[in-house]
Amino acid sequence: MKEEDQFESLPLSQDSFRELWESVQTPSISSIPTSDQAPQQWVAEGNLYLLEQELNGFDEGLFELASESVAKDGFNPSTSTVPVTTDYPGDYGFKLRFQQSGTAKSVTSTFSELLNKLYCQLAKTSPIEILVTKEPPQGAFVRATAVYKKTEHVGEVVRRCPHHQNEDSTEHRSHLIRVEGSQLAHYFEDLVTKRQSVTVPYEAPQLGSEMTTILLSFMCNSSCMGGMNRRPILTILTLETPEGLVLGRRCFEVRVCACPGRDRKTEEENKNKTQNGTKQTKKRKSIPAPEAASVKKSKSASSTEEEEKEVFLLPVRGRERYEMLKKLNDGLELLEKDGRKNKASVKPEVAVPTNGKRLLQRGERSDSD
Ligand SMILES: [Zn+2]
Repeated sequence: MKEEDQFESLPLSQDSFRELWESVQTPSISSIPTSDQAPQQWVAEGNLYLLEQELNGFDEGLFELASESVAKDGFNPSTSTVPVTTDYPGDYGFKLRFQQSGTAKSVTSTFSELLNKLYCQLAKTSPIEILVTKEPPQGAFVRATAVYKKTEHVGEVVRRCPHHQNEDSTEHRSHLIRVEGSQLAHYFEDLVTKRQSVTVPYEAPQLGSEMTTILLSFMCNSSCMGGMNRRPILTILTLETPEGLVLGRRCFEVRVCACPGRDRKTEEENKNKTQNGTKQTKKRKSIPAPEAASVKKSKSASSTEEEEKEVFLLPVRGRERYEMLKKLNDGLELLEKDGRKNKASVKPEVAVPTNGKRLLQRGERSDSD
């Protein structure tokens, strides 16, 4: 065995090392209090640091051994410190499919294939179809876990905001993701990582159907203060054996908001714009299409609008590229100003040229002078 080899290569007596190793590791993992802000990684490293101090000629390979045995000690591999977010169809061809709900204003849940992102309203049901290419083992289940998308937040556990937790009396009120329509849903909180997840038994498709559907709902808005607080999240769905071994995994981003249809449309348009790059500058005139205009009119205290006010700094390499991007940005700023004036139906005192190109050249000249 690999583990034995590593023990044998140690300069110290195996017995004393084993004793030390067990005395350091076993009690510490579960008894050291961890807050949400202190990822488990830290605790593990702390233990190793202790070991290293007491043993000279410490074998580097033991770092691997340590993480291995943590996973083996009965912790669920699917809820490790930083959950894995790569798609993995596995032997069972685990796959998700979302109903096509479009981007109408009334839609409460809609999925963007382009962005691999689900847009849904708070506490509204999102049906997710689950497909496999062959029958998973008896007792298999599907687990849903939420995780922050950005690296700087991924160590923090996704939970509901205090406000929404307080007005709910259910036992699992702190869980963001809920499974609807099943009495067999189970809510978990990992003892070590504190990450929350919900499971539901995998059901074979009914006769004449190729997939099974699970119903998820998200119990906070993405903008909830003290909760997600505008930080984007991913939902991880795993197909697991009764023992918790992962057979397949699928991930998608989720935005919980007041107007899923509108936000999906806006974000898809933005994505297309950045993909088209320079092509888009010529097409700019076609942006305020009738549909886009009506989207702007729906005036709720929308989070998208607030997000648009955020200022970002972008380091750009090379003067030429900077000038090009600046032009683009100046143009967009002008276009937005223009749009606002039109919306307020106030005639601009200085005639705003409809041709954006002229304005851009003017901006460029003043900049390079
Ligand atoms: Zn909330």
